[in-house]
Amino acid sequence: MPQRPKMVLVGQLVTAPWVFDAAQRVGVDVVLVPWTGTDMDAARRAIAVTEVLPLDVETDPDGALAALVERHRTDPFDGIMAGNELVVPFTARAARTLGLPGLAEEAAAVVRDKRSMRQRLTEAGLAAPRFTVLERQEDWTDALTLRFPVVVKPARGFSSLGVVRVDDKEQLEEAVTSTWELVRARAGKPAETGGGSGVLVEEYLDGPEISAESLVHRGRVRVCAVSWKGELTGPYFEETTLRAPARLPSEILAAVEAEVVAAHHAFGIDEGATHTELRLVGGVRPVLLEMGARIGGGGFMHHLVQGSSGIDFAAETVRVHLGREPLCWTREPEAAGHAAAYLVPVGTGGTFRRLRGLDEVRVDPRVDHVAQAVLPGTVLRPYPAWSAYPAIVLSHHESDAEAVRFRDHLARTLHIEYEEQG
Ligand code: ADP
Ligand code: CA
Repeated sequence: MPQRPKMVLVGQLVTAPWVFDAAQRVGVDVVLVPWTGTDMDAARRAIAVTEVLPLDVETDPDGALAALVERHRTDPFDGIMAGNELVVPFTARAARTLGLPGLAEEAAAVVRDKRSMRQRLTEAGLAAPRFTVLERQEDWTDALTLRFPVVVKPARGFSSLGVVRVDDKEQLEEAVTSTWELVRARAGKPAETGGGSGVLVEEYLDGPEISAESLVHRGRVRVCAVSWKGELTGPYFEETTLRAPARLPSEILAAVEAEVVAAHHAFGIDEGATHTELRLVGGVRPVLLEMGARIGGGGFMHHLVQGSSGIDFAAETVRVHLGREPLCWTREPEAAGHAAAYLVPVGTGGTFRRLRGLDEVRVDPRVDHVAQAVLPGTVLRPYPAWSAYPAIVLSHHESDAEAVRFRDHLARTLHIEYEEQG
């Protein structure tokens, strides 16, 4: 019997099962390089994982790569794939060094830095808000020429950490200072895995938010699903819900697709899966916020794609990383129904005790999966800081209206209980 292909999966949290399950469906063995803090027993128990390779990618990417090269020489891998936003550049470098399919290193660097994404969009003539780059905290006055409200964010951030809306010029200095402090807290990490400085101030895009999940193979891009995130007006941007397919007129969907495909070309993204966030300015004009060169949401965007379009997104992504053509290139899947995700809000933050209401939600026939990544005793910080998503509920529905009603039901039912203070 021929050997099963072997894929290295870098930094995938084991509390997010979608890529592991997909590897199983495709028939691939997973060599898991666990993310910092992962429980080793849980890592070994994850579906499709045949080996756990603990490498310090986050703080010693060079050492981690050397270890992969050594291993590859004696027992070659067939693919390598990023499991979280911060390892996208490392994974691209590893893919090139090992001679495996993957994202171009330059493209990986572009999408990990909001400055270069904005520059590339502007150069390509695509829509982008006016922005100012602050290389030093004291340069904040440079941003006073922008039209307010503005949004202040780390240039190399993630998960809306340190992202804040500022309405008045008088509040700008304070906002830049506090975002800069969050950036500084990560400054010790290598730039390759999310360290590095710089803050961006850009004009606020007024309109609902959507996300687009795409597959890319040999430069060809397919937008597989567009999800509705709704009105997020700030001052902090905690995501709580997504629904797919987004209920939008076909001409707006076509404009979204055109913008997203063109952005892939502008960024040089030619291989893999992507997660693109956009605003619909005035409800109609798509403007790209950012793109991640990976399956969004640590993997759960697979659920929204599959539940709406019928495309087995995570499995297709695994195929692409093995150098294979996605099945949906030649075979049209049957459109499914409506899918939704609900991210339980952190609220005030504190020491996590338990999530009330979860037992009832788990047995609801509309619920497909509840992902819980936080153990009792974990300190959850409120936005604009960020530590973890406490829990994510994934569901399927007959209609978008039913998905909206279910979201309201979850908001009433699920509450985080924190330890008493003092
Ligand atoms: P991160 O990498 O931390 O997710 P984003 O640029 O995606 O950073 O910003 C996080 C969220 O903040 C976005 O999803 C959006 O809701 C909001 N946001 C960021 N920039 C803008 C902007 N220019 N206009 C309106 N909202 C914005
Ligand atoms: Ca984002």
